[in-house]
Amino acid sequence: MPHSAVVDGRSTRPRRTSAYLLGSVLTAVAATPAAAATPPTGGALAGPAPKIRAVQCRTDCMGLTAGHVGSRVRVRGKSLKRVDSVVFQGAPGAADDVSVAPLRARKRYVDARVPRTAVTGPVALVSADGAESAPTALPLTIDPTAPAAPSSSDGLAIDVEVQGNRVFYGSERQAQVSYIVRDAQPVQVAVELIRLTDGVAIARWEPGVVQPGVAQTITWDGTAGGRVQRDGRYAFRVFATSQSGVTASSAQAPAPGTSPKAVPASFLFQRHIFPIRGAHTMGGGTAAFGGGRGHQGQDVFARCGTRLVAARGGRVKFKQYHSAAGHYIVVDGDATGYDYAYMHLRQAALVDQGDQVYTGQPIGFVGDTGRAHGCHLHFEMWKGPGWYSGGSPIDPLPLLAAWDKAS
Ligand SMILES: [Zn+2]
Repeated sequence: MPHSAVVDGRSTRPRRTSAYLLGSVLTAVAATPAAAATPPTGGALAGPAPKIRAVQCRTDCMGLTAGHVGSRVRVRGKSLKRVDSVVFQGAPGAADDVSVAPLRARKRYVDARVPRTAVTGPVALVSADGAESAPTALPLTIDPTAPAAPSSSDGLAIDVEVQGNRVFYGSERQAQVSYIVRDAQPVQVAVELIRLTDGVAIARWEPGVVQPGVAQTITWDGTAGGRVQRDGRYAFRVFATSQSGVTASSAQAPAPGTSPKAVPASFLFQRHIFPIRGAHTMGGGTAAFGGGRGHQGQDVFARCGTRLVAARGGRVKFKQYHSAAGHYIVVDGDATGYDYAYMHLRQAALVDQGDQVYTGQPIGFVGDTGRAHGCHLHFEMWKGPGWYSGGSPIDPLPLLAAWDKAS
């Protein structure tokens, strides 16, 4: 794998050396002319390097990360819109690298067909400006033969996988399960979402009859019956019935004493994320709610410049500068009835008044603008109708502490 030798695996910026080297590798394996001919810029025109989260087989699959030559695969990640080649790296060394143009490139995924000469190995992506992703952590298994005709003796089976182990309500990425059923004929399928604390099925999908060997995806938005569900661990469970009446499930009920983490296709669901993404200390005394002269929030101390994210998504109600609060924003939290205020930001927030922000979206940096003694986030929560519009502040410390512990 010559790529991993020059890319540190975490690089988010295009690097000149890797772009040059890659250019020659792509030429050697007859890459798309566009990719090979594009001079590596590494300059102002270069976008962020593509970032891969996972690769998954979509059609004619043997499993979620196993396909045949000719299978369609989907690579998920970030900054993928400008990807113009998909590199099947095979074994270490450039000799067996194969690169193809994607069938389709979107911001968050790229589809490609497994080329005839590709062999099992990691997959990497290269964008039009030469920026290269780190390879996938896990290899894509590639069967060198074209998909065999399904045989009925293999029996009904389900392969299932969730995207991500932790999902925040209202975040950019929702809970998502992918599954593939294997059988000789199309199979009847139902999917349930189970709350693992009490085993209750809180949501159900009925995709109906699905084709064997084709990846299916179901997304959960965090609600059931119109209500945001409580924090905890959940699992998708896929049920299938073959045409001959055989049934299968992707997971049996976990035996008593099994760690919920061990349940297949399970994930942690949380409604908030702790807003300071770095080392921090909760203030006491006058820095706590009600401290000093009727302090209406909780101060959390952190180095100036520490990243701040929205604890909960929602609409930005105010973005202003105030002599005491400094740079601040107020977000009307989605489906909470609360406003969330973030004050003393280092500079004006990264989002604008009226914007819809998602849970976990970067909103700015810890600072000490306004009347602040030391770098800190002053955080307030106001019950509806909201911040200085008829609502009243609550003590946010117990909530902050809980989010901190969980995220
Ligand atoms: Zn304060």
